[in-house]
This record gives sequence, C-alpha cells and structure tokens, in this order.
Amino acid sequence: MKHALITGVKGQDGSYLAELLIANGYAVSGVDRAGGGSIEGAELIVGDILSQEFVRELVSQKFDEIYNLASIATVQSPWEDPVGTIASTGLAPLYFLEAIRTLSPSTKFFQASSAEMFGDSQICPQNEDTPFRPKNPYGMGKLLAHLAVGQYRSEFNLYAVSGILFNHESPRRGKGFVTRKITNTLARIKAGAEKELVVGNLSTVRDFGFAGDYVEAMRMMLQADVPDDYVIASGAVHTVRDFVDAVAQELQMPLTWEGESEEEVGKNAKGNVVVRVSKDFFRSVEKVNRCGDVSKIKKDFGWKPKTRFEDLVRMMVEADVKSLM
Ligand code: GDP
Repeated sequence: MKHALITGVKGQDGSYLAELLIANGYAVSGVDRAGGGSIEGAELIVGDILSQEFVRELVSQKFDEIYNLASIATVQSPWEDPVGTIASTGLAPLYFLEAIRTLSPSTKFFQASSAEMFGDSQICPQNEDTPFRPKNPYGMGKLLAHLAVGQYRSEFNLYAVSGILFNHESPRRGKGFVTRKITNTLARIKAGAEKELVVGNLSTVRDFGFAGDYVEAMRMMLQADVPDDYVIASGAVHTVRDFVDAVAQELQMPLTWEGESEEEVGKNAKGNVVVRVSKDFFRSVEKVNRCGDVSKIKKDFGWKPKTRFEDLVRMMVEADVKSLM
C-alpha cells in the first residue's frame, strides 16, 4: 500500500486529493497548521511546514509520495506580508526538497505551482515554456519553488514535479475567492438572506476549472515513467462577468448592474437583483488574460478536464443553494 503525505489537506485541493488517493487504496497522512477537524480515512498531523525541523521529521517517515499543496491564499494582497508569503510559497517547498534529497531520495514530490508565475506575460495561452514574469510575492515565491523543483530533478535525480495550476474552483472554494463569493452571495440573495452582490474587476479573464479534475492530474504526474512539469488548466476562458451571468441564469435571477465604473457596468440590464461594482474590490490593473495550454499533459497522459464551465457553475450553485435549505 502506498503512503502519501498531503500538505494543506484541509483545503479545497487537499481534501479532494485525499479522497482520490484513499479511493485508490493509498494510506494518507495530511498536514495542517491548525488542529481540530478531521479528514475521513486520513491521519491528521498538526504542524507548521515553515519549520525546517518539522519538515525533516515529516520526510524522515519516508512517504512514497508527497503532495505540497499548502500555501497562503492569494485573496488578500500578497504585498501585505511579502516575507511571509515568499516563505510559505517558496521556502517551505525548498525545505521539502532538501529533506527528500538528504533523508528519503526515493520519495516522489509534487509541487503546486501557480499561473501567478506568469504575472503580466503577454503570451496567451501560456504553456510550460512561456517565460515567467511574476508581479507579486505570491508569484515570486511560487517561481522560486518551481525552479527549485526543476533543479533538484536534474541535479540530484529526484522525482520532483510541478503542476502549474490555473484557477480551480469547487463548492469547497473559500468564500473570499470570486467564484464562490458569487455563487454563495447570489444563493443567499435568492433565499432572502442578502441584498446585493458587490464585486470588483468584471472584465478580467480567467481560466476556471474544477479542482476535483485537477487533483487527478496531480496523481497522474507522480505515476509517470519520466518526471516532468505540466500546465493543469481548463483551456477555456471566461470573464468574471461571465461567471456572474452564468450563476444568475442558473438561479433564474435577472440582474441590474450598478457601480462606480461605467466601463465595468456598461451593459445594464434591468432585473431585480443588484450587482454592484465597487472600488473596494478593484485590483490594480490586471492587463493579462490567463489561459492555460494543456496540450502537453493531454499528449503525455491523455488527461483533460472533465467538467465544463457550465457544469462547474451548476455544481457550485446547487451546493450553495442546498446549504441554505
Ligand atoms: P485569483 O485569480 O487567484 O486572484 O482568484 P480570485 O478568485 O481571488 O480572483 C479572480 C479574479 O476575480 C481576479 O481578476 C479579481 O480581480 C476578480 N474579482 C472581481 N471581483 C472580485 C471580488 O469581489 N473578490 C475577488 N476575490 N476577486 C474579484
């Protein structure tokens, strides 16, 4: 029986991955900073992977596979704590690589890299060879880890790989992220528990996929004959406004757009549910469209996202509506 360790096991991706590995006959241990709660069928280890000593203790247990999914969330500005952000996204993965190299070189390591590493890249869609131009400490830290994974693979022959993950959503997504904020708030408005939805940039383009599909790609990557890095994305792009419209349609709630930016709310429709655009949620200019090119993972493993945009929206809406009943 394979024994896997998942960091960030209580998060969206960690919980889906734990379920997948358990279903595939693995023994699963999960690390989380905070005690309390549990993951069914998995051992929970409490500790902070920002401690190099703790990471060495973990790795000395000689897991078959380690999936490093823990990291600081990006919802708040990563500039609020650049040092802490880079420690969590960049240094902690390095602790794992170094511990694996010295204590357990046969352990396979998966690192959750991020499309944030592309920063303001003007190339679209982005693939494994697209130059990285991170613009904030989150992307910078993720890039440090990404480069380290590649170097430990070539220098020390470790089985270490990075999945470059584009936005991935689900009913388990934190409510501060835009997709879940939209499904949760519109469901609450429908139930009479909220009055309006307040959002920021509507025109930003994102590549939204389903987290449950992406963890399958992670596991596949650790079973390959040759370790390598892959983009994990849906390959389809939508604006935040598309997402709001799709959720409203699913809930059959006609919208009225109001707000501080004419450009953002240009196409007013007259409905009974107000979506307000507010500067409170604006991010500084996001010039870049995020779109992942999944040709390589398709070619090597036949992986492709199973869940289409409309199905993702429906799944999230249904879960939020149900939770309010
Ligand atoms: P990110 O891509 O990892 O930063 O994921 P988010 O879900 O936080 O943001 C996705 C996109 O939604 C970004 O382009 C945000 O600028 C945009 N956005 C628009 N309104 C909001 C909002 O109210 N909250 C958040 N979190 N993002 C918003």
